[in-house]
This record gives sequence, C-alpha cells and structure tokens, in this order.
Amino acid sequence: MTTDTSDLCPTCSHVLPAAGDHPVWCAECEWGLGEPEAPRGGPVRAWFDRRSAALVEALYREVSRAEPARPGWNAARAASYLLALAVHACPLALLAVAGLLLRTDVNAVTVIAAVVLVALAYFLAPRLGRMPRGDAVKRREDAPALFALLDRVGAEVGAAPVHTVVVTGEFNASYGAVGLRRRHVLTIGLPIWDPLTGQQRVALLGHEFAHGVNGDSRHGLVVGTALSTLARLYHATRPGGRDRRMNYLIDLMVRALQGVVSGLVAMVFRAQLALTLRAGQRAEYLADRLAGQVASPGAAADMLDTMLVTAQTHRLVLRRTAVRAGTELWAEQRGAVANLPESERERRRRLAARERLRVDESHPPTHLRIAVLRGRPESEPRVRIEADETERITAELATDYDRVARELRESARAALYR
Ligand SMILES: [Zn+2]
Ligand SMILES: [Zn+2]
Repeated sequence: MTTDTSDLCPTCSHVLPAAGDHPVWCAECEWGLGEPEAPRGGPVRAWFDRRSAALVEALYREVSRAEPARPGWNAARAASYLLALAVHACPLALLAVAGLLLRTDVNAVTVIAAVVLVALAYFLAPRLGRMPRGDAVKRREDAPALFALLDRVGAEVGAAPVHTVVVTGEFNASYGAVGLRRRHVLTIGLPIWDPLTGQQRVALLGHEFAHGVNGDSRHGLVVGTALSTLARLYHATRPGGRDRRMNYLIDLMVRALQGVVSGLVAMVFRAQLALTLRAGQRAEYLADRLAGQVASPGAAADMLDTMLVTAQTHRLVLRRTAVRAGTELWAEQRGAVANLPESERERRRRLAARERLRVDESHPPTHLRIAVLRGRPESEPRVRIEADETERITAELATDYDRVARELRESARAALYR
C-alpha cells in the first residue's frame, strides 16, 4: 500500500486515505462510494419498489423490537397454500382430460392430444428433488468430523439430521429435503465456507438448519414445490429471441399467444411470491436468531459481514485465476481477503446498505440482518467449534477443495472465451 494521503475529497475536502488497488472514496460524505442501482423502469415497477422498501423497513423495525417467532396461520399463508394446491391440481386435471378424450374416441387426433396433455402434466408435476450423486457428495463415513459438527448444530436447532452433504463452488449454502423419502441434503459452497472462521461456520450451519424448523412455507413441500413449478413454467413461456426459421406471420401469432400465456403465468407466479415473501423474510430473521443462539449473536453477525465483504473478492479472484497460469484459487482468495483494508471493507458495507430494499429477494438485505443481530444481547454459544475440529474438517474436504478450484477455474476460463 502507498502512504500517499495528500488527496482531498472533491466535495467535502476531507483527507482521503490511500486505498491501494481499491476504489478511492470518502468516508465523510460517501463521495466515490460506487454507483447505486438504477431505479427500475415503469410507474408500476417504481410503485412496487417503493412499497417493498417500506415493507422491508417495517419488517426490520418489527423484528428489532420483538424477537421473530414461527409464523402462525393468517390470510396470506392460507391463500398461498390454496394457490399451491391449485397449481398441483393442474397436472391431475390434464391427466383427467386426457383420459376422458381417449374414452370418448380413440383416433389419431385424440391420441396426439392425449400425448400432449400427458407431456404437459409431466412438466407441471411437482419435483421432489433427487438425491445427488457424484464426486461432490459426502456421506457420513466420508467425513466423520464434519458430520459430528452437523449433528451437534442440527440437534441444537432441532433440525432433521443431514443424510448427504454436497460440496460445490457456489457462493452459497443451503439445506433441504429431497425425494419421496424427504432425506436431508446440506449444500456447502466452498467459496463462502472458506473465508469464515470456525464459529462463523457454526452460525452459517445454524441459519441453514433453521430453514428446516422456521416454518417458512417457501421451502416447504406444498408451497415450495408449487413455487418451483411456477418458476419453471414462467421461464419456459417467457418470450425469448425470435426464431428466424419461422415464417414471420406464424412467428407473430405464436408470440402473441405466448405473450398471453406467459402474462398469466407471471401473474400467478408474482401473486404466490407476494403472498409468501413477507412471511419468508420474517422466517429468515428467525433463522438468524436461531443461528445466533447456536453460535452467539456476534458470530452470526460476523458471518453475514464476512459474506457481504468477501463476495466481491471471490469474483475478482475467480477472474484473476482464469487469466493467470499457476495461481492457486484458495491461496489467492485467502490472501486477497486477508489484505482487504478496513476502509475497503467499510466501503462495501456502505454500498450494500444503499442497495434497494426489495422484498422480491430471497433474504432481507444483509446489512439489516446484521443490524438486528448486533442489537441482540451477546450470549454464550451453545455449540463451540474447536481449532482441531476445524482442521480435521478441512482435511476431510481436501479433495473437494481441489476439485472445486479446478471446476471454478474451468468455468471462469470458458466464460472468458464465450
Ligand atoms: Zn467527502
Ligand atoms: Zn436463509
């Protein structure tokens, strides 16, 4: 880092500290902080965004005052279940119509129509998720130290034991049930796992496990699968680029029809999101609270802060390892995180705080989640991770670290040449 601190802020004349490779900004007046997200176009969007921001803030004030509890039944929750059941009834209705058609008459037309209806029913059927397979999968016997930690955290939160762990290259972690037997799968993204301290990892696990007990219907069997059916349908019907092989007139007609269908699907999808998101965000605060009880509120807040601050570093390191030969992803990322000056960490925190407060995100804004946790009285962690435990777990994940680094580098390279 340079020691040149002679630069002054162009708007408030405050002395700007040296920022090294990072953007220069002013902590006094926030000059140079970064571009805030542009407002979304259209009066409806703008209205929706204003409404969501008010909602997010009201929810934040609510959970700062009183600890969030498991959601009870209200009109929105009941409506979301009804809508979900209606979605799940669609494939059954299509199968019934196909059956009726074939009972009326069996000819070329009815057979083709029935086949189309059955295919459509299959597309709309709820997906229960499949038990993952392959190199990324860890079973109990593959990683005893990791599973011992998962069992301890899971037992504190009251979550069902993990059957399988999947180790990925995503900047994310998740926990959910798959298949008819609803076995629990924990997904750990190494890019987010690696920069966390031992106790912050306990907090991350605590938050994810809490998704199994916080009553969040978006992750539940009925509403969760309906939401993913709607999302699938929405993406399938959304008009994309024009297919040039098609006759222009036919193309126009197909697009008009597609527009109508996609508009209807989008309406149902948005309604379901709107019905569940407020409760969903409250459930996230509850998951944070449980994570705070398991790991300590401070560790849970620090975990979120590490996530918020290191996300950008991870993206930069990925790009760097893609263009430079001989760089080792994890060493590179650890070095970059360790060398982040406090002023750059603060810049990223303040930039995140400027982000639009929208409810159509899966989680409440991270800076608000951190603020709620920091407002809680500090308590002793219920699960404490020991240093040798962290080491043993890292050793159990050694092959995953290598594999994920290889995969991430390959996909970063592929993205360069696309
Ligand atoms: Zn300034
Ligand atoms: Zn969550």
